[in-house]
Amino acid sequence: MTEIYMDHAATTPVRPEVVEVMLPYFGTEFGNASSVYGWGRRAHQALDQARDTVAELLGAASNEIIFTSGGSEGANLAIKGVAWAYQTKGKHIITSAIEHHAVLDTALWLKKHGFEVTILPVDEEGFVSPAEVEKALRPDTILVSIMHANNEVGTIQPIAEIGAIVRKHGAFFHTDAVQTAGVLDLNVEELNVDLLSLSAHKFYGPKGVGTLYVRKGVRLDPLIHGGAQERRRRAGTENVAGIVGLAKAFELAREERVAENARLTKLRDRLIEGLQTIPSSKVNGSLSQRLPNNVNVCFQYIEGESMLLNLDLRGIAASSGSACTSGSLDPSHVLLAMGLTHEIAHGSLRLTLGRDNTESDVDFVLQEIPVIVERLRKMSPLYQG
Ligand SMILES: *Cc1c(COP(=O)(O)O)cnc(C)c1O
Repeated sequence: MTEIYMDHAATTPVRPEVVEVMLPYFGTEFGNASSVYGWGRRAHQALDQARDTVAELLGAASNEIIFTSGGSEGANLAIKGVAWAYQTKGKHIITSAIEHHAVLDTALWLKKHGFEVTILPVDEEGFVSPAEVEKALRPDTILVSIMHANNEVGTIQPIAEIGAIVRKHGAFFHTDAVQTAGVLDLNVEELNVDLLSLSAHKFYGPKGVGTLYVRKGVRLDPLIHGGAQERRRRAGTENVAGIVGLAKAFELAREERVAENARLTKLRDRLIEGLQTIPSSKVNGSLSQRLPNNVNVCFQYIEGESMLLNLDLRGIAASSGSACTSGSLDPSHVLLAMGLTHEIAHGSLRLTLGRDNTESDVDFVLQEIPVIVERLRKMSPLYQG
């Protein structure tokens, strides 16, 4: 059976070119980057070079780049790091209802430790309003964290606009750019951000490695203590192979992004148009400000989980709600925040396209889904079709 992977928002395969540049660091170049002899120096050089590459791609300076274990650690370090470092200045943090759990749960954890958290609502397309951010800012607000693009519905936020407002008020601004790294132009100056997190495995790099950009002058209390690595902000022997892979994957993605985005947008719109012809279906998220690879649809009278199992039987890998909530019966917090009812949100399906997907994959999916929807609806007591 052919297998079609359409869950690139969850993770992506590592590109062969990326594997190739990583391999030496598992073998002959296994040195610890903190060691003074040749092996150590060469590992250190590799780190320096990767750091320069990532910095340049972000429009940042090399000493503003911290390598982390991924998007979750990046968000934790940004939010907890700023919160602990600036708690004497203020204890108020602002975020939004549609953030990834790495941001939301971190903010809620800080709430248990004496911080105040404002969670901004979103509109029906999943947008955070810059005016709402402005209204929520207080003299004691130390940090605002709003994601660049949403991992479930693909809505791209007006980050530069929000950033300008936050800066004017003297708070710091973090964006979770895990879904946009390699896809959109991520220039930290143009985006008006002070902190930005990304993760290699979302752009065809390895799992377990990411980057947190931290603007010069922003203090951070580290989460991990023990060594002088990453300018004392993240202790632990560096994941040299992973970091080299991240830089290569980021570079490739940025070189190819314009052409690849155009190709994906076409496939995405073909999918959306096809799925919209199914009765009682609804496309979620913005149609204009949307990630080029994201399709998110609700089919009324259907459980997303049954949809996924049926798609899997046909060799199609997709997602319902977010990866973290699938397996539980809670509908997506993102769709609920956008005003969908529990019942409708339960019937959501996310298809996220990637480099290997072709037009014939899209056509196969468009042939299978209506059949599955029809079959599942016939079994639903609520459906009178
Ligand atoms: C995947 C993802 C994360 C978490 O990144 P990991 O590297 O898997 O920890 C955070 N935010 C968003 C928007 C994501 O899509």
